[in-house]
Amino acid sequence: MIKKRNIQGVTIECVQGDIANQPDMDAIVNAANARLTTGGGVAGAIHRAAGPGLEAECRPLAPIRPGQAVITGAHNLPNRHVIHCLGPVYGRDNPSDRLLADCYRNALALADEKELSSVGFPAISTGVFGFPLEPAARVAIGTVARSAPKLSFVTHVRFILFSENDRGVFTRMLEELE
Ligand code: ADP
Repeated sequence: MIKKRNIQGVTIECVQGDIANQPDMDAIVNAANARLTTGGGVAGAIHRAAGPGLEAECRPLAPIRPGQAVITGAHNLPNRHVIHCLGPVYGRDNPSDRLLADCYRNALALADEKELSSVGFPAISTGVFGFPLEPAARVAIGTVARSAPKLSFVTHVRFILFSENDRGVFTRMLEELE
């Protein structure tokens, strides 16, 4: 099973792990809520590790819309930036595929604007927002691959999946890319 592929100058890899423990990534992506506050899942892990300064920096940037991304500092996290994306709530924010793709596209565009070379993503919307894992993985991998030719600085994208099963699904999508 391959875990890494180079698509048009961008290495895409899928690993099992914790999004808040990726010290070699310039930016990590938060599966945020509209108010950019802490919560459960990814947002909880990121805000816990970053400390209260992150919520304070987020406050004037909120609320954000589904598909939107905003960038902040990383505070006590080992990264340079956190990019906060609001994924679609499955079955409520439509078209959910397009809004989910917007998250990945907009996050990568912000990273590239800041001249960052590496970005770590969680599986946005697949937790409490209820997006089924396999279609979410197809959108995530496909959107990063299609964005690759437009990126000047980002050369490394890592998907950090919470379970070994989720990593397997993302890895299969990466293998099946044309
Ligand atoms: P959303 O609200 O966008 O659905 P969640 O944080 O509820 O976001 O979950 C998104 C995905 O991230 C889920 O697949 C969940 O299992 C996974 N996840 C939860 N905590 C972490 C973590 N610390 N690191 C990586 N992935 C995580």
